[in-house]
Amino acid sequence: MTSVNLTITARPSEACDTDLAKDPWEFAALAGYGPGASSADPIPRGAVRPGGLPPEYQGVPDAELHARIQAAKTALGDRVVVLGHFYQRDEVVAHADFVGDSYQLAQAALTRPDAEAIVFCGVHFMAETADILSAPEQKVLLPNLAAGCSMADMADSDSVEDCWEQLEELFAGEAAGDGLAPVIPVTYMNSSAALKAFCGRHGGIVCTSSNAKTVLEWAFARGRRVLFFPDQHLGRNTAKAMGVPLEQMPMWNPRQPLGGNTPEALRESRVILWHGFCSVHKRFTVEQIDRARAEYPGVKVIVHPECPMPVVDAADASGSTDVIRKAVDAAAPGDVLAIGTEINLVNRLAAENPDKTIFCLDPVICPCSTMYRIHPGYLAWCLESLVAGEAPNRILVDARTASDARVALERMLQARPS
Ligand code: SF4
Repeated sequence: MTSVNLTITARPSEACDTDLAKDPWEFAALAGYGPGASSADPIPRGAVRPGGLPPEYQGVPDAELHARIQAAKTALGDRVVVLGHFYQRDEVVAHADFVGDSYQLAQAALTRPDAEAIVFCGVHFMAETADILSAPEQKVLLPNLAAGCSMADMADSDSVEDCWEQLEELFAGEAAGDGLAPVIPVTYMNSSAALKAFCGRHGGIVCTSSNAKTVLEWAFARGRRVLFFPDQHLGRNTAKAMGVPLEQMPMWNPRQPLGGNTPEALRESRVILWHGFCSVHKRFTVEQIDRARAEYPGVKVIVHPECPMPVVDAADASGSTDVIRKAVDAAAPGDVLAIGTEINLVNRLAAENPDKTIFCLDPVICPCSTMYRIHPGYLAWCLESLVAGEAPNRILVDARTASDARVALERMLQARPS
């Protein structure tokens, strides 16, 4: 397998969006998430606003940007730490001090308490989490403010508060002899700080794709039901593997009264799933798995649990990006692996493991459109601004929200597998 540089080699016939060949500052001001997997998703109220890039950083040759980023990092030394998510482009990952998933990166930032600035090459909710967990005097910068997450944006605070009020009213008359709460809110890490704070205030908790089962066990020990947001697929795949029947997992559509459910269905529920999804992982299908098996007998198929349930059921294994990486590391030379997750990570795994055949289940190049908005030009701007004593695009979570969100994050850290 060869590595694919989206900005250079993607041709219209191979890519999900012809705008992939453009530079991010050309579409940053447009309504929408930009070219990539979630470009068709409507941007809801409260989503992160598009971010600009000073003209002097636009259209600068790649080699010059690379040299300027390196020079700025050298000048800043230990005063800055650059974090790069697995789904970032190679040209950005090349400058990261740590590469990982959202939670690994927030944890990595904790190992650098002396850094004045944390430059988070990821998306908005990740920078918020880093700000919540870092020291108050540390500045967290998101190079492009338009780098949100379409999944996180599918659950806004107002809609979740409204859902909660309806559920409280519905469950108000329930007998409480078992000592359990009627419902426990569980939010995926891919959510705004406001929703993590909501969980902190209402006896709830945060989960990642690595610990979702442990977190659901924690919640079932304290409540009769769980309200799981924003990713329906992670919630459904995890609860199904724990033996929760599908008929006890109604979906909550925030645009309909009672989420589009009957009171009986909600009373009988164990997990109420928010109507949210990741546009990147939603693209994977059982047909793609069938095709991979037909073309490569013996192929091992591994997918992320944000994929739809039929895809997870048809795969040989599912797990977080960390699980996927470890499965690739553990594979023997000559093994063939088809992977259902973001294209930049799959291509990087392929490049790092030339003795194995590794390919993305989806043959169409379609990156996470919001991650794609971090371009080396934005990173150069942030770092050179820090050298000049400025801190653009700072992500600052207010003290009350941060405090409540920390409660939900702490519960997650203390939750243990049963
Ligand atoms: S891959 Fe999906 S969940 Fe992750 S940042 Fe992109 S849209 Fe959000």
